[in-house]
Formats: sequence, structure tokens, C-alpha cells
Amino acid sequence: MVKIVQKENPILRDEARAVDEKEIGTPKIAKIIADMKIALSREDDGVAIAAPQIGVPLRIFVVSGKVAQLTGQVPETEPTPEDSVFINPVVKKLSREKKLTDEGCLSVRYLYGKVRRSIKATIEATDETGKRRVFGASGLLAQIFQHEIDHLGGVLFTDKAVDVEEIIPPHVVKRQPLKASGHTTIARLRGYGGRMTK
Ligand code: ZN
Repeated sequence: MVKIVQKENPILRDEARAVDEKEIGTPKIAKIIADMKIALSREDDGVAIAAPQIGVPLRIFVVSGKVAQLTGQVPETEPTPEDSVFINPVVKKLSREKKLTDEGCLSVRYLYGKVRRSIKATIEATDETGKRRVFGASGLLAQIFQHEIDHLGGVLFTDKAVDVEEIIPPHVVKRQPLKASGHTTIARLRGYGGRMTK
């Protein structure tokens, strides 16, 4: 079973290696991406995950399709879009304007804090099909890009966060079983007081 590694694991502190672009589409890389999507789907509050978080030191991250619903691009009444895959991402541009934003991490349970992030980010990355593309983002997605690319450089949000506090979600306290994806997930995520985890 795929496990999300926690902050004490040294793999989270290493610089992840670039994926050989010839390997994109091979069963080996497809399996890693599938494992990342599975691990992410099991986390109610998860919006993105980087490969080192499942113990794989490669430059890949996945953004949940839930993000499009959370940012209002896709109505919550419609099915959740597919997750997006970003391989060998490179930051092309970060807005000078920054904002202190709430942040949490699937590998730093259950700490939350505020991180100063650029409000807009442009990255270039290769998708699952091997196509190199440029992605411009603002708000939550821009924050996700910065958080995930930090992971690939061995940086955790707690390295730069202020006002860090521990907030144990009710389902952990009560040890309730987690439900699968869908609209319930969005509702449950909102139950975290809007705290999203990457
Ligand atoms: Zn994280």
C-alpha cells in the first residue's frame, strides 16, 4: 500500500531528480503517478502531492481535480475533474506581489501555518503524455505550484511558515473511517475550516 511519508523522513529533504523524458508513459513512471493519485485520493483535505511524499525522489507532482471545484472553475454539482500531472516543473515567473496564506502539508500532520507566497505563478512542465506546456495560475493553484516545487527541492512549508499551530481534525480525534471521493469530500474538506493540505 502506498504510504505518505512524514517530515522525519530524510527523502523529504533531498533534491528530487529530473524524470528522463523518454521514460514518460512507461509502466514504471505510470505506476508512480497512479500511486500518487491513490495516495492523494485517500486524503479528504488533500489538494496536491509531490513524488517524494510517497518516497519517490523524482520531480513529479499531482494536483487534485478538486482544486477546479474549490476555485469555482468547475461547479461542485458536476463530476470532479481528473487530477493533473506535472513532470519536471520549472518556475518561469512569480508575481512580486505576495500574500500570507494558510497552508498545511500531507507530510507534516497536523501542523498549519501561514506562508508568504506569490499570488501568481507561471511554470513550465511536462504532462503525462510527454507534452511540455506552460501553466499560469493565481490564488490556490499558484500557491500549490510553489508548495509542490518546494517539495522537489527538499523544502517543507514549515521551513518558511509563521504562526504554526497544531490542529487535529475531528475525524482523527474520533477515529472515524474516511469516506471516498466525490461531493462528500468537498463538503468534508470545508469541514476543515477551509484548511487544505498539499
Ligand atoms: Zn506538502
